[in-house]
Amino acid sequence: MQQSSLRHELHNRWPQAETVSDFEHNLKAVHARIAAACERAGRDPAGVRLLPISKTKPEPTLRMAYAAGCRYFGENKPQEAYRKWEAMQDLSDLRWSVVGHLQTNKAKLVARFATEFQALDSLRVAEALERRLQMEGRSLDVLVQVNTSGEESKFGLPPDNVAAFLRELPAFSALRVRGLMTLAVFSSDAQQVRPCFVRLRELRDRLRQEAPADVSLEELSMGMSGDFEIAIEEGATIVRVGQAIFGARATPDSHYWPSGEK
Ligand SMILES: *Cc1c(COP(=O)(O)O)cnc(C)c1O
Repeated sequence: MQQSSLRHELHNRWPQAETVSDFEHNLKAVHARIAAACERAGRDPAGVRLLPISKTKPEPTLRMAYAAGCRYFGENKPQEAYRKWEAMQDLSDLRWSVVGHLQTNKAKLVARFATEFQALDSLRVAEALERRLQMEGRSLDVLVQVNTSGEESKFGLPPDNVAAFLRELPAFSALRVRGLMTLAVFSSDAQQVRPCFVRLRELRDRLRQEAPADVSLEELSMGMSGDFEIAIEEGATIVRVGQAIFGARATPDSHYWPSGEK
């Protein structure tokens, strides 16, 4: 399917959440889909964390999602996330996860407010985060992003480079390694999507044997609005869901993960 017609279809499927009760309804529906996928896979739903992805949505909308029960938001862009965190400090039990690629010059923002960073894929970024976290007296949960689709344009380490990368991470005492994260190919075809998730799980299972003692690989962050059931069937412990909770986004996904083609 063409990306443009796929996007059109998603807009019809995911109307904008505009009230607290819209959010309650959407969250309930997503949790029901998670439960059904867990049932099929023989898994306990308690082993799957739903991370609502609030990128592009304005602060009042996030406050409605909070009122409906969300206590954790995922954002793709550090500046946007930082701005929202600053504006919502009155909600003291709200936590933030940054799920998008980070440039070293934005590490200081992430070090200041984030609880979790899911897109670690270079030692330069690890170094920059470590230095800033030390200054802030904070620590950060991190997931290592892996490119499981083989697409040039996707961020993340090639699977073959992950073992060596993990061996370097215990040197960064402010980073608590929790697991791996991936984005599958952007496709509505399960047969293309599923192998990406399988690849991440198999890589994790292999690396678990040899990972340094203080590197945990418990978490597998994989699956989004269109594919999280498949991800759960393949072992996801965190699903990152935006549009199925908040409604379709106007911004094309190529803004977040360059597709290399227009
Ligand atoms: C936007 C985004 C998501 C969520 O995508 P939806 O289609 O809105 O569910 C998940 N992961 C990352 C890294 C994202 O940037």
